[in-house]
Amino acid sequence: MNPQILIRETAALFHEAGIPDPAWDSALLLAHITGRPALNLRLDMDTPLDNATLARFYALRDQRLRRVPLQYLLHEQSFMGHTFYVDDRVLIPRPETELLTELAIAELQQRSTALDLCCGSGCIGISMALAVPSAEVHAVDLSTGALEVTRRNAGALGAKITLHQGDLFAAVEGLRFDLIISNPPYIPTEDCRVLQAEVMQEPDMALDGGADGYDFYRRIAQAAPAHLTGSGVVLLEVGYDQAEGVADLMRSAGFREISIHNDLQGIPRMVVAHL
Ligand code: GLN
Repeated sequence: MNPQILIRETAALFHEAGIPDPAWDSALLLAHITGRPALNLRLDMDTPLDNATLARFYALRDQRLRRVPLQYLLHEQSFMGHTFYVDDRVLIPRPETELLTELAIAELQQRSTALDLCCGSGCIGISMALAVPSAEVHAVDLSTGALEVTRRNAGALGAKITLHQGDLFAAVEGLRFDLIISNPPYIPTEDCRVLQAEVMQEPDMALDGGADGYDFYRRIAQAAPAHLTGSGVVLLEVGYDQAEGVADLMRSAGFREISIHNDLQGIPRMVVAHL
């Protein structure tokens, strides 16, 4: 069995299973198993693969056929130019969240403290800490598994970040920040049952935003002012149809200057609110 036949056979199986990007996924899986970059592998598609390599490949292929996300098998996802370790304890970082993080980094340049609520893999908080090393960045998650992943990523990437375990602001009682950022769970509970097969394997806790999807926004809007310094700012990622609703919540909570920003698909995806 050589890479050419194996990749072709695997791509056909992935295609049958309804996997969105079958050829690319099979090439990346084999690159991961052999430790050779996908493009490098393409230059030598004929040398037979040894049995140990094949056995490891088949084990991962079986999992991918059960729609385990590729990133959980490769244990990595690139975000803001850094490679983050991921496993099934955390949501896989999404490209639209990079835009939110870019906005936050621009805001943080003029500020000194930041809080990442529901930090998951730590991708937002760690990227901020790396981009603005003078800032003091804190991150909170309810999940101890997620915090372990954040700690691992912070260590591997050399980011200085303070972690807290607990339920939103309960974890940082008495502390105030210049900037609060969050990509909280925001999918309505009912919708969580009909997500793409891969997304269904991500932690429910990272996706389910309660009956209407707004549970976390209500709690953040209500409690954020007491955890912000005078010129504080809140940056939130929101679901595709939630921007106006979240902006209203922030307005009712006393935020004055509120803006909505689109993602690269033109979906209103971010709400930025200043006190
Ligand atoms: N953006 C995620 C998705 O596409 C949802 C993440 C979240 O709930 N914060 O499913």
